[in-house]
Amino acid sequence: MDVIRLAIVGYGKIARDQHHPAIDANDSYRLSAVASRNAEVANTANFESLDALLKAGPTIDAVSLCTPASVRTAQARLAMAHGKHVMLEKPPGATLAEIETLREDAHRCGVTLFASWHSRHAYCVAPARRWLATRKIRRVDIEWKEDVRVWHPGQAWIWEPGGMGVFDPGINALSIVTAILPRPFHLTDAELQMPGNCQTPIAASLDFVDGVNMPIHAEFDFRQTGTPPIWEIHVETDEGRLTLSEGGSRLSIDGEEVDAGPDVEYPGLYERFASLIQKGESDVDVAPFRHVADALMLGQRRTVEDFIE
Ligand code: NAP
Repeated sequence: MDVIRLAIVGYGKIARDQHHPAIDANDSYRLSAVASRNAEVANTANFESLDALLKAGPTIDAVSLCTPASVRTAQARLAMAHGKHVMLEKPPGATLAEIETLREDAHRCGVTLFASWHSRHAYCVAPARRWLATRKIRRVDIEWKEDVRVWHPGQAWIWEPGGMGVFDPGINALSIVTAILPRPFHLTDAELQMPGNCQTPIAASLDFVDGVNMPIHAEFDFRQTGTPPIWEIHVETDEGRLTLSEGGSRLSIDGEEVDAGPDVEYPGLYERFASLIQKGESDVDVAPFRHVADALMLGQRRTVEDFIE
């Protein structure tokens, strides 16, 4: 396959920290342009918007949309209408229904649409799925706690409608759990802690069950300060307790580490995107996003102190 001429749209924290290095490290891609209102990136063509890039920029084959979800769907539709393959950062949209529109657009335009879930590519997620496939699972506990001021500095959009608040990182845990458990599950109860000055939760407590009433409990919290983030999933089984930690890059059974590896999430995403383009396929799984939508539908709101960054 020829090299994929790619543009990054929305050059913020995740584009800078992860997308750009992963693209540079993969021979299947060339970063041909960046479209971002404020950023200027060296050694590539820069445009203020995707529209300007598509009108006046170099020829590209694909775009990687690293903007917040609230503006991404319009950008994805525009790119696909111009025949470009599209990779979406997570979450895939601001609403569930708009993703169905995107799916149809991709089909009609004959392009690849990839709704990416970076945490699913973490080093130990696939080994955890394999280990769990042959065990009887008794319960699952998820702890996803980080300091919003450290991990989302200046990101006012996270507190606006569609910004998802603590579900922005919490959906990463849900993307892993939906990938490693053998059966679908659904929400039964949720409490959302809402700062008085915000539209989205700063913490959430969630209960789910699967079809055989196996319980899953999740605690998401943005107020973790002074210690490293906790990104852990514990699974009790008939043959021991599996723990995925550090967002899925470490795996232990009954407290004994059995696997650990480097950060391969974004390199994995770009390998997957190239492979989908080559095969002429799309990959759009909304399962993690559906659980967030359910929590926002079913959750009891409790007002907590204002969030001041
Ligand atoms: P960010 O630092 O705020 O960057 C987003 C960029 O999008 C901004 O720098 C901005 O660039 C552009 N943008 C923002 N609002 C826009 C608007 N209304 N119209 C057009 N462009 C706009 O956010 P981020 O952390 O990179 O997150 C972006 C996405 O990646 C989110 O969906 C997030 O969930 C996901 N993500 C983030 C992380 C993380 O650790 N930060 C990890 C994984 C995934 P310009 O001002 O230059 O246009």
